[in-house]
Amino acid sequence: MFWQKELETLNRSRLEALQLKRLRETAARVYGKVPYYRKLFKNNGVTPAHLKALQDISKLPFTTRDDLQKNYPDKLLTIKHHDTMRLHTSSGTTGKPKAVFFTRQDIDVAANNIARCLTMTGVTKKDVLQNMMSYGLFTGGLMMHYGAEKVGALVIPSAIGNTERQLMLMEDFGTTSIHLTPSYALYLSDVLEKKGREFRKKLKLKRAYMGAEPYTEETKNKIEKLLQVKVYNSYGLTEMNGPGVAFECEFQAGMHLWEDSYIMEIVDPKTGKQLPDGESGELILTTLTREGMPIIRYRTRDLTAILPGKCKCGRTHRRITRIKGRADDMFILRGVNIYPQQIERVLMSVAHVEKNYQIYLDANDKMTVKVEITKKLFDGDLDKLKKLQLDLTERLRAEILIRPNIELVEPGTLPVSEGKAKRVFDNRKIY
Ligand code: AMP
Ligand code: ZN
Repeated sequence: MFWQKELETLNRSRLEALQLKRLRETAARVYGKVPYYRKLFKNNGVTPAHLKALQDISKLPFTTRDDLQKNYPDKLLTIKHHDTMRLHTSSGTTGKPKAVFFTRQDIDVAANNIARCLTMTGVTKKDVLQNMMSYGLFTGGLMMHYGAEKVGALVIPSAIGNTERQLMLMEDFGTTSIHLTPSYALYLSDVLEKKGREFRKKLKLKRAYMGAEPYTEETKNKIEKLLQVKVYNSYGLTEMNGPGVAFECEFQAGMHLWEDSYIMEIVDPKTGKQLPDGESGELILTTLTREGMPIIRYRTRDLTAILPGKCKCGRTHRRITRIKGRADDMFILRGVNIYPQQIERVLMSVAHVEKNYQIYLDANDKMTVKVEITKKLFDGDLDKLKKLQLDLTERLRAEILIRPNIELVEPGTLPVSEGKAKRVFDNRKIY
């Protein structure tokens, strides 16, 4: 089923012509209205007039996470504050967040893209969608909500957590589709399993939309079996409107990325050079329809590849593979984006902590930080050790919003690597 058949199946030459037109408009808009972009373009010796063909996008500079943070809170806006309607920020907590503003039209376009996603997997106004993503600054809640409302489905804004209540709502209101993170899906499956088969039979559940975090094909299969649903992969990021950037269709052979809203490129993460379809690299996205805060060549740091060839569904928007990893060392734990440097900063600001530390993530989404402390403290009073442990736990919780286990170890116990230190040991096998 299609939400906007004509646009979703537009032939490639017309789609690319539309992209070029929108790219030129977007470039002219930021060049004219955002001093930061104008300077950046000038420093790179380009102006919007250089955009004669779609390939000319490679002449434009990249925008990075740092650029967004440097321009916090609103220096990338092309319009006045009072013309914006909504603010979202990334779930990460490194320094200032990445703030993204939306106008009425921006919200409408984002919701429309989500409506396409839901429709292509069979959702209609007869469906009941329970949105188990957190509502708030995170886009997973509100943006999906607006998209599902556009389709006309009944939306239950249950948000994440309170699993017994989730199951009650699912039973009482005939939920057919759920939107959730893979880690919450695993938890939900556990609770559902304990309720027994008879309970599952009462539910009308057919589909689960899973995203916001990386997960493997194996996890997907496991959840499909446990929840007895079809799991559809959903990719998005706050900087690009949140969910609905790329989504699996009914054939589930990669995720269609809506190319009338974004130009996608795959580049070598080291050199920044474009790679051909089929090769893995970093996904770069340029917004084509954003009014309030357009972003040029955003380095998502997500690793994927463009799937060559046509999809059986007839949509002409190209597909990307499951996200294969990150080009930086960010990891996502229980929906929160975390950088090892955040943890390092906290550890290093506390007395008696030595230089070496390691972060372990286990299959149950628990984080353990092993940290070397001074010999004197390690051999000393147990009460003092406990106090330090508690202090570090609290400080880290304040910084990364997750309470880690802290293991204090003797200096010299953790291996010292010769090259780049390996800090994070991810045993969740998510990629
Ligand atoms: P946020 O802006 O906080 O929503 O986080 C966006 C990031 O979540 C992306 O850049 C990806 O690293 C990750 N992400 C979102 N959806 C998926 C998905 N379906 N598979 C893998 N990673 C995802
Ligand atoms: Zn398709």
